[in-house]
Amino acid sequence: MINLILFGKPGAGKGTQAEFLKSKYQLFHISTGDLFRHHISNKTELGILAKSYLEEGDLVPDQVTIDMLKDAVENNTEAKGFIFDGFPRTTKQAEVLDAFLIEKSMQITATLALEADDDILVERLINRGITSERKDDQDEEKIRNRFEEYNNKTAPLRSFYDAQGKFYSVDGIGSIDGITQRLTALIDGLL
Ligand code: ADP
Repeated sequence: MINLILFGKPGAGKGTQAEFLKSKYQLFHISTGDLFRHHISNKTELGILAKSYLEEGDLVPDQVTIDMLKDAVENNTEAKGFIFDGFPRTTKQAEVLDAFLIEKSMQITATLALEADDDILVERLINRGITSERKDDQDEEKIRNRFEEYNNKTAPLRSFYDAQGKFYSVDGIGSIDGITQRLTALIDGLL
């Protein structure tokens, strides 16, 4: 089984690369951002709870996110492996994920971090905001808030996975194809 975490700041290209990786390695892709947006557009109880957090660019509380993630894994137990995209985003989430995977006799294979400078990321997000309906991409203040959330709460996960020997940095600048090639070369080297 291959279980990958795609790691990186907002706009780093996690969702784009996940699309390629999931078909190449036949993995089930779980994007917590996409799941939240799905709940919000369907006006579920979870969506109503998560809406204001997403719109402000704040992280949704851990327990809510963790429960949603566990459900997504448990509903897809026949998968050959998973791509976790946008999860974990806090140390608590990472600890719970490790414990949960152990229970299922699974483990993280690698955490792949897509690296890009903030200026490039902000530009990508603002461009995405023009064509998408994502309110969190349409306001620079909210974009900055997401970076702040990342720096405060998510960045510490680098050392969390590095301590396990599972953290890999990948240059996230360049053509989409080129970045996919870097990722697949790295993953193939781990198999
Ligand atoms: P991006 O990486 O481009 O900021 P995502 O689509 O991954 O966007 O996530 C959008 C929003 O969903 C986040 O700003 C946050 O509000 C919420 N979210 C997604 N994943 C998590 C998580 N693991 N923990 C808490 N909140 C999350």
